[in-house]
Amino acid sequence: MIGGIDLGGTKIEARLFDDTALQTCDLRRVPTPLDDFDALFAGLIAQIDWLRDQADDPDLAVGVCVPGVIDPQTGAVWAANVPLSGQDLGAALTAHYGRSLPVVVDSMAFAYSETHGGAGQNGRCVLGLVLGTGVGAGLCLNGAFPSRAAGLAVEIGHVGVPARALARHGLPLWACGCGRAGCWETCISGTGLTRLASHVTGQTIPAEQVTDPATLDIWVDLTGEALATLQNLIDPDVIVIGGGLSRRADLIARLPAALDMHRLGQTRAPAIRAAQHGDSSGARGAALLAATRC
Ligand SMILES: [Zn+2]
Repeated sequence: MIGGIDLGGTKIEARLFDDTALQTCDLRRVPTPLDDFDALFAGLIAQIDWLRDQADDPDLAVGVCVPGVIDPQTGAVWAANVPLSGQDLGAALTAHYGRSLPVVVDSMAFAYSETHGGAGQNGRCVLGLVLGTGVGAGLCLNGAFPSRAAGLAVEIGHVGVPARALARHGLPLWACGCGRAGCWETCISGTGLTRLASHVTGQTIPAEQVTDPATLDIWVDLTGEALATLQNLIDPDVIVIGGGLSRRADLIARLPAALDMHRLGQTRAPAIRAAQHGDSSGARGAALLAATRC
């Protein structure tokens, strides 16, 4: 067996997987302690120890994914929503357990999971795009992570929407959680879809329930433009969509045509697929990384 932890802004999810098909055998979610690092670390340790108890294996391999950025040289994490900033979580886990546990950015874990036995299987350049509360993305090249200078994943969520796209739909520059305005995250995340619906209809509607055709047309067009930006920069062969909006099959089915509206000339288009592993992707990717280090 093997363990994976998805440390998120609201919950710490621990999943135990079997070795062969990497199916979830057991699962426990606890609220994320947000008081300070010590409380968060204690909550994380309790989840890792629970996995080892369930597996009856004190040396169970466990990987951890976190929201944020991990500096590859110092190990220091920067995170907006959990008290991890400035902390070397990997070193703290090594000091506690006497062995290293892989710690990875959640959107990179998602891309890794979908590359290995998921919707990006056999893709050489797999981009995972997570459309949830925010927008995150991760990248796997030839089945592994490319080396990066600052530990950023693929931060498309905090790239600006082109002025032409905002003008096309008469949209304002909405403030983003990163402190700037007009980022992709403000428009194409689940929260962004709700914001678009409010702008168009005047009503506040959860993203999964938005059915207004004009709102959906705008979201699809903007997301097609975002996909074209990603294709221009990264040129993946597969783009796997994750997060809450990946369950909107009606929207995902429209994305290849939306990309066609914005991509360069007659360039080959990447395949666009919904994630196969849904909510388990972060923990599954972290567990797969732990398995490779055994
Ligand atoms: Zn931003």
